[in-house]
Amino acid sequence: MTTGPIPNSTAPTGNSILLDRTRPFPERVAAAARAWDEGGRSPAALVDDRAYFALRCWQLAAPERGEQLGAPTAAFLGQAYDAFGGSTGWGLTLRQRAVCACHGDTWRLENIEICLGCLRYLCYQLDGPCCEGAEIVG
Ligand SMILES: [Zn+2]
Ligand SMILES: [Zn+2]
Repeated sequence: MTTGPIPNSTAPTGNSILLDRTRPFPERVAAAARAWDEGGRSPAALVDDRAYFALRCWQLAAPERGEQLGAPTAAFLGQAYDAFGGSTGWGLTLRQRAVCACHGDTWRLENIEICLGCLRYLCYQLDGPCCEGAEIVG
């Protein structure tokens, strides 16, 4: 088991709403989609960097959770995906490397997971949960 807080050398980046640890991740997604919609669907209100990685992993895991995403959220996710470069951008992202917060090992993003509580990268070797009640996707 992990004891104490996991050190995190690189702070998560991306849409600040999605990085707000005080709310569950699905609430953050809904709030980000709302802010984007109410702000005239500006590309500036979309998501990039680590927040996008988390968002995309969360989206891809939705069927596993038996979840149907609502129309505003689906529109937001579609726009964010396009702005991120679609399948090309996503493919390039998956080949980038990141350091896991649990051991400090370097992994390709396609082989790493992310905690939807704190948005830290975690490798499969993590023994035990990261944040209480948070889903780990990737
Ligand atoms: Zn690790
Ligand atoms: Zn966490």
